[in-house]
Amino acid sequence: MIPQPLSTDLAELERPALEHALAARGYQPFHARQIFQWIYRRGVADVGAMTDLSRDLRSTLTAEFNLSSPAIVHRDRSVDGTQKFLLRLGDGRTVESVFIPDTPSQTFCISTQVGCAMACAFCLTGKMGLVRNLTAGEIVGQVRVLADALEMRAVPFNIVLMGMGEPLHNYDETMKALRILADEHGFNMSPRRMTLSTVGLLPALERLAKEPIMPNLAISLHAPTDGQRGELVPINRKYGVEDIIAACRRFPLKRRSRITFEYVLLAGVNDRPEDARRLAKLLAGVKSKVNLIPLNAAAGIPFERPSDDAVNQFAEILAERHLTVSVRKSRGRDIRAACGQLIVEGQKLSSGQQFAVSI
Ligand code: SAH
Repeated sequence: MIPQPLSTDLAELERPALEHALAARGYQPFHARQIFQWIYRRGVADVGAMTDLSRDLRSTLTAEFNLSSPAIVHRDRSVDGTQKFLLRLGDGRTVESVFIPDTPSQTFCISTQVGCAMACAFCLTGKMGLVRNLTAGEIVGQVRVLADALEMRAVPFNIVLMGMGEPLHNYDETMKALRILADEHGFNMSPRRMTLSTVGLLPALERLAKEPIMPNLAISLHAPTDGQRGELVPINRKYGVEDIIAACRRFPLKRRSRITFEYVLLAGVNDRPEDARRLAKLLAGVKSKVNLIPLNAAAGIPFERPSDDAVNQFAEILAERHLTVSVRKSRGRDIRAACGQLIVEGQKLSSGQQFAVSI
């Protein structure tokens, strides 16, 4: 489909909005279901190929609608099977999305913003600052593009909102994206297959607790005390550890589900036995699992990765105190696709720019 100026972008429409747009043009709402099936289930972007629509509807769609999709600029494959995609958006900005195979399921790691405003001390994306929010269509667009490139339209996959950006800082578009992904006539993704990872923006977390589509929740905690966390995650100076944990205790969880607490281990900073003991105390009684992430070191990041012994000792202290703990296996480090390594340079250049993925 050739994008038309002033045309309506199908990628940005939830199904009820598409029904509405069709009704305004004299078409029955059920056509929205057919169009969703073509776009999301079968991966067909060309209206001409949507053979169960009338010729009349097809020509209206061609004239008045378009379907924007991120374009693959670069695709890197890691020796471990991880793949990183650099995707260009309609305005020339770029984001990265990562495919992580067999963890044990297939997972797409998706971005919600170009850059990020949170400026966490150990994260390269944070160094970029926030360039802009992604639209819901751009968030779902990453899933469409990856599903096609990996030939996974018919294969179940998980998504984790752990790419570039802070999803709760782009709340409305992120939630709209999750509704589109969950639509029964589209990808039909179960919210159980979606994980939203956040630094814990409290008001947005309270809003999330009331959403009809409830993804799994991961909190990027990284330290058990305000003093330590404030140094690593600057937003902690506004929304502190105790308040975040209290919100987590109130968070409505489905049976058997738990909140994941992510904890990036930084040598000599937050990886000491006393940090582990404090963390265990903080999380006592919370339905939680702790995911330890030994730092993925990079130039410009003023921290070091702890030794395997220090990681194991930290994990053991938590396990002894009856916490469920896992150590995140770093994937795709050879292609700089690992956690916190997503950064795209050149975002501030104008069009015709050259992009380099770098650290
Ligand atoms: N803003 C959200 C979503 C990004 S998720 C959040 O912070 O949760 C990215 C995950 O990778 C977060 O848990 C983040 O803390 C972690 N991360 C960032 N930089 C990292 C690094 N250098 N090494 C390991 N993990 C890192």
